[in-house]
Amino acid sequence: RRKTDLATAHEECHTADGVRIEVFANLGRPGDAAAAAAQGAEGCGLLRSEFLFLERLTAPTEDEQAAQYQELADALPNRPLIIRTLDVGGDKPLAYLPLPVEENPVLGLRGVRVSLRYPELLRTQVRAILRVKPLGVCRILVPMITSAHELQAVRTVVEAERQELGITTPVLVGAMIEVPVAAVLSDRLAAHADFLSIGTNDLTQYALAMDRGNAYLAPQLDSLHPGVLRLVAQTVEGARKHGRPVAVCGGIASDPQAAPLLIGLGVTELSATPAVIPGLKAFIRTLTLPQCQEAARKALELANGDEVRALVTSTWQAQ
Ligand code: PEP
Ligand code: MG
Repeated sequence: RRKTDLATAHEECHTADGVRIEVFANLGRPGDAAAAAAQGAEGCGLLRSEFLFLERLTAPTEDEQAAQYQELADALPNRPLIIRTLDVGGDKPLAYLPLPVEENPVLGLRGVRVSLRYPELLRTQVRAILRVKPLGVCRILVPMITSAHELQAVRTVVEAERQELGITTPVLVGAMIEVPVAAVLSDRLAAHADFLSIGTNDLTQYALAMDRGNAYLAPQLDSLHPGVLRLVAQTVEGARKHGRPVAVCGGIASDPQAAPLLIGLGVTELSATPAVIPGLKAFIRTLTLPQCQEAARKALELANGDEVRALVTSTWQAQ
């Protein structure tokens, strides 16, 4: 079965009734891009740019970053390259950044909060991204957004650097939806964002108040929890008011059991681990939108993730 999946992995992905679903790859370093392309990734839906910043004594320079982003763009020719701005916090110390020691780093200075506190770091990263050729493939994704104000602050930096570099190509700026309030207020965020991408790992952690790394809580920490799915539904609803697309780039996008539900809720882009892309595309091609919508509607009424998974298993036995 894997052989046939691979044979069609490079084609665009549509459901059986013709709904276009883009399937991208999550990448953590440039070296993985070629392998992702070989698996049929239609682009990079989430570049975790932390690889450039961690485990070193000085911040990466603009040149250094630009070279790495260019390598990625070259490995995924003419495909979207969604670069997430630095997402670190007190739990990942950087030698060159005086981050405070916090009692609850996951609820502290992390993601965009760090970027806005150290704007020079953000400015350098943005300038490096703006040097990618062709720039049209790049989109900037901002992690841990809680308010439209934060997104606007990042956009102001992007626009200022674009002007200074004399670049006329517009660059899309999107918000990660990984804080529950961002999902609830997604209509307001969507007014200022070009696209939304749901980070279900953190969204689940914050919605259920369960540490995503806690082994004791792992069995209950399921992104298919109906409460999390309702937040996904709310995100899509808010985005639609402004005609913005919604992607899912959290771990659940790599889980075939989630695909019909996410599609049924109106998600049109999935960014997954490269290895699962051929199978994911093959499964999506067997689905129809009304069937997905019906399952999603039912899932929102269930009690927990286990019940949701049982529903998916009974509807699509093959999975
Ligand atoms: C997420 O939170 O779902 C996400 C994609 O970001 P990360 O896993 O890097 O926190
Ligand atoms: Mg996250």
